[in-house]
Parts: sequence; structure tokens; C-alpha cells
Amino acid sequence: MQVIKAASAGFCMGVSLALRRLDQALAARRARGQAGEIPPGSRLYTIGPIIHNPQLVREYEERGALCLRDLSAIRAGDTAVIRAHGLPGAVEDRLRALGVEIVDATCPRVKAAQLAIRKASQDGGTLLLFGEAEHPEVKGLLSYAGHGARVFGNLDELKKISLPDKFFLAAQTTQDKEIFAEAAEYVTCTSGRNVAILDTICDATRQRQDEVSALAARVRGMVIVGGLNSGNTTRLADIARNMGVFTLHCENGYTIPLDKLKELQPVGLSAGASTPDEQINTVEELLRRA
Ligand code: SF4
Repeated sequence: MQVIKAASAGFCMGVSLALRRLDQALAARRARGQAGEIPPGSRLYTIGPIIHNPQLVREYEERGALCLRDLSAIRAGDTAVIRAHGLPGAVEDRLRALGVEIVDATCPRVKAAQLAIRKASQDGGTLLLFGEAEHPEVKGLLSYAGHGARVFGNLDELKKISLPDKFFLAAQTTQDKEIFAEAAEYVTCTSGRNVAILDTICDATRQRQDEVSALAARVRGMVIVGGLNSGNTTRLADIARNMGVFTLHCENGYTIPLDKLKELQPVGLSAGASTPDEQINTVEELLRRA
């Protein structure tokens, strides 16, 4: 099968950095363990899955990086790795107060968004945030905003919010940039004011979305590889699907309808920012061999 692969498919800078920090934390812990410096029974945890990729999370658990889902399980002497999505400020404070060692692997782009939101809030604005209310990054971003912050997941939800006197707009770093631009236009027109728009969607997200749009304009079939629980991967699939392209979002090759895709070739291939190269390569090989 003929395949056209997006150049940006796979890990972004923030994910690579977070995994590097986790590898370093595991190595440091191993060395301290050999020197007898680790409190007996203590553990290394990531606060939630290090990235939204179930296969990789399983591999790390086997290497000793446990995924913490219930904060009450963590104890003094444990190590907590903050993942690329960041963490609400109050949770980080609580962990430090408990005596937990913190390794901060928050992506620099997420950190920049947190600080920009804090500054705009301190200047007296109320945050309207474009994002998934239950996403850990969004919960972290909200913790840096003042009272009254609101989250909207699409334009319809935004239109139901009565606009505060002084407000600013920001987005989860991996959100759809076209929808965010429409949201910015809506609030500017409706309020009749110059609204502060924080440009928090990261370059890696823009690049991946632009490449998928360009690819989708050239093909009739598209495969997007990555965790089904990954928001940024799901949005790539949505972009292609909304352009009328037959699109498959998969974590591996098992679910790919090869016969159907063969009729649509050349087929586009991309992957989310949290998809390891091995997974992309496996799917690419499967497609090319079909
Ligand atoms: S998608 Fe962007 S914000 Fe998210 S981890 Fe990657 S570089 Fe950072």
C-alpha cells in the first residue's frame, strides 16, 4: 500500500523531556537503592499516567515507575514525578508538605501557560479556558487562575457563558487552533472590546494539526496512531474525519481494515505527540506491506 507519513508524527519536545526526566529519576533511585539511601518500602510514582499511552505506561510500571491514581496512597520518602501535563499548585504543595520528593517533568510549554494565566489573573481578569474540563492539564491550569474561571469545550458551551466584565481567553496547549480562533472572534465581537487572548496552544500541536489538514486534503484514507485516551491524538483524527476522509484512530495494527484502506490509497499516516516511534513504525510497516 502507498503511504504518506506526516513528518511530525510522534513524540513532541514535552513528552521526550518528561520521559527523559523519568528515566533519570529511575536511574538515580536505583543508584541510591544500591547505596542503601532509599527509605525501606518507599516507591517512585508518576502522578497519573506519565503520558496517555497505555503500552508505554505498562513498560514503565514494569521498570518500577508506578502510576499513582489515588493521592492518599503516597507517603513521606516516596518520589513523585509530575508529568508533562503539570499538576494543580495545591496538590504539589500538599506533596511537599508530606515529605514527598518531587521531580517536576511539567512540559515547559504547559509551565509557560500556567504562568501566563497566573499573571493575567493577578491583573484582574477572569479566565475563560478552552479545554476538556476533566483533563489533568486543564485542572492544573485552572489552579493558576483566580476566582470565577470557566472552562468551555466548544463554541456552543462558550456561548452559554455570560461574559464577565474583565476576562481573558486561553486554551489547553493541545486544543484545536481553528476552534480557538473562532472562540476569540466570538468573544471579541460579542463584548465589543479588545479581549486579551493568551496564545497557549503549543507549536508542536499546531504543526501536527497543520500537517494532518494538509495530508487529509491529498488522501481519501488516514490512519492516526496513538492512545485512544489521548486528547491530542483524538483531535488529529477529528480534523481528518471532519474533512470527509475515512479515518482510523488506532493504538496498534490489529484493528486496521487493510482491504478497505487499499481501495483508498495513497493513505495518510500520522500519530499523536505521545505515540512512541516503535508503535508508528509497526503500523507503517503493516500498511506498506499490505
Ligand atoms: S503537546 Fe506541546 S504542551 Fe503538550 S507536552 Fe507536547 S510540547 Fe508540551
